[in-house]
Amino acid sequence: MAVNESSDLFISKLTVETWSRQFDVWSRVCEVIRREQTVASDTLLIQIANVPVVRSRSTTTLGCYVSRNDTPCCIRLQFDQEPELLVHTFLHEVAHLIDHLVSFSGRPYRGAHRSGWTFWAIALGISPCRTVKSEYLAQQHQQRKKLVAVCSGCGESFYRIRRLNRNRTYLHKQCGSPLKPV
Ligand SMILES: [Zn+2]
Ligand SMILES: [Zn+2]
Repeated sequence: MAVNESSDLFISKLTVETWSRQFDVWSRVCEVIRREQTVASDTLLIQIANVPVVRSRSTTTLGCYVSRNDTPCCIRLQFDQEPELLVHTFLHEVAHLIDHLVSFSGRPYRGAHRSGWTFWAIALGISPCRTVKSEYLAQQHQQRKKLVAVCSGCGESFYRIRRLNRNRTYLHKQCGSPLKPV
């Protein structure tokens, strides 16, 4: 995933380099950059190394590369996923970061999952699929749901992560009766 963000500023000591070392893939990142980017590869590596990695609480998105205008902002990572998946997600976002710095230098990132990203994903040794599912995270998502409404007609219960907007009237599709918020 990739989003452009206009306002947030992230301050964090945890960076792409610290997490790459943690996941034991920093030498792989260096090797790939030096092999594929013969001009100014060290400058590029320093840029990549210093991008912050911040913890995400999302139960629907495993990771996200965030940029502001022409500048990388951070990588958001949901750490509650299977270990092998976590490394894969991390490298998926690093591929977005490299794609931005190399193919969209000085410009906003519009690359999402096109050929540039695919190239770096393969070079980093991951399968270039857009999305990966975490069973564990899906379970967490399910557990966060709570009872939000009961149908006033047939009594069916409705579970959601977020409460319903109390200023609106919701109708039960199946029986047409209004829902009673809980
Ligand atoms: Zn992506
Ligand atoms: Zn009903």
